[in-house]
Amino acid sequence: MAVVADPSTPTFVVIGAGLAGAKAAEALRAEGFDGRLVLLGSEPHRPYERPPLSKGYLLGRSDRSAVFVHPAEWYEEHRVELRLDVAAVGIDRGDHEVTTGHGDRLRYDKLLLATGASPRRLAVPGSDLGGVRCLRSLDDCDDLRAELGDAAEVVVVGAGWIGLETAAAARALGAEVTVLEQAELPLLRVLGSRMAEVFADLHREHGVTLRCGVAVSAIEPAAADPMRVGAVRLTDGTVIDADTVVVGIGVSPNDGLARSCGLNCDNGILVDRHLVTSDDDILAAGDVANAYHPLLRRQLRVEHWATALHQPVVAAKTMLGAAATYDRLPYFFSDQYELGMEYTGHVDPGDGDVQVVVRGDLPAREFIAFWVRDGRVLAAMNVNVWEAGDPIRELIRSGERVDTLRLGDPDIPLEHATAVP
Ligand code: FAD
Ligand code: NAP
Repeated sequence: MAVVADPSTPTFVVIGAGLAGAKAAEALRAEGFDGRLVLLGSEPHRPYERPPLSKGYLLGRSDRSAVFVHPAEWYEEHRVELRLDVAAVGIDRGDHEVTTGHGDRLRYDKLLLATGASPRRLAVPGSDLGGVRCLRSLDDCDDLRAELGDAAEVVVVGAGWIGLETAAAARALGAEVTVLEQAELPLLRVLGSRMAEVFADLHREHGVTLRCGVAVSAIEPAAADPMRVGAVRLTDGTVIDADTVVVGIGVSPNDGLARSCGLNCDNGILVDRHLVTSDDDILAAGDVANAYHPLLRRQLRVEHWATALHQPVVAAKTMLGAAATYDRLPYFFSDQYELGMEYTGHVDPGDGDVQVVVRGDLPAREFIAFWVRDGRVLAAMNVNVWEAGDPIRELIRSGERVDTLRLGDPDIPLEHATAVP
């Protein structure tokens, strides 16, 4: 079915009705775009935020209505044609048209790809058994929530952010939890060993059985129901009983549409500092975008909430002809048990030249960790220490050399941690 629309009306199409898509629609209207605005989403729900799905909402502590980005009526009020349960299946760059799974063809003047990312699947026998889950969507969360509770035996595969936050929620709900990680420590690749130990200790103290350096060889069926999981088998032969398995082994960017229409992709859709792809009329934002970061001077794909929140504003401005640049520092947060943290910046902690400076009380889990190279702060993580965001951002952005002794001294204001010439 062809959609009839006045071809002279400027039309912007956004593919992906997640946080990035919804924020793009909001920003386009806020920036004065008055034309036709279509937001296509393959999920049945209007745009929602995912962070509560491994925290408050999973725990039953926050209301379902609180997860949505906008109230239901917002889309009509802002003349956003929100089409749910429909995927974009093709992009014709020559004719400037998007084809949907329903057979519609939508003309666009500018197109934003905000298609996000999808969970990686565990490639072992039995991973399709009932009770083996990932946690990405609101529906995934509702299903998981129904299974967590007293006496549930939960095995979490992957000690990344999903794995650890889900483990914390499951423990709070009374489940027995085992976390399996292939690396030697949780979050090792992101935080390095010293900070990864903080999270390993945290979870062990809360009764999680944490097994690192292990690999799953199979998911085995329950004796009482061969269609459901009963245990997880490791390559060393260990068998761990499980009623529920949560797989959190990372995500892959949803860049298939972009690849199939010939846009340059490499670990996501490649975009410049203005979030424009290799086609001037197509942009990308959020989890799917591998964007050039002018401050870090490299391409970077960030799979976190703040990027999906802020990049769309720059994308919207660019779509409207302004020369907007995305140069915010990467940022994310996590909450696990009584530990709240924020991470700002970007660093490979495995880089041998990187030094970790701790300011505060590490054993009490009230501290800021700084990753420093050549005397300059590249990234920082504040754990149960708040209102440090501005000076941390300033230290990283300025690139000024710091005195690591002053940096590590909580009695010296962060603003005074720079090296005395
Ligand atoms: P997505 O949220 O993936 O949304 C993309 C949407 O596009 C999806 O709805 C998808 O179905 C749709 N789509 C894909 N292809 C098509 C198509 N062809 N046609 C139509 N629609 C399509 N980050 C943090 O910083 N802190 C946190 O505490 C945190 N907690 C999280 C907890 C969970 C459980 C999860 C899953 C993620 C969490 N994140 C967190 C990460 C954060 O939620 C993501 O970075 C963010 O959701 C990315 O938003 P996005 O809009 O780019 O992509
Ligand atoms: P993730 O943070 O990338 O972590 C995946 C973890 O699983 C890594 O530790 C990885 O180890 C490990 N792993 C990979 N394959 C494995 C295997 N076969 N067996 C055991 N462990 C394996 O991804 P995620 O936790 O699945 O989260 C999914 C997405 O949601 C990410 O984009 C994440 O950023 C986002 N999210 C963010 C937050 C937050 O910011 N607070 C919260 C929840 C989710 P290696 O590193 O060695 O590969």
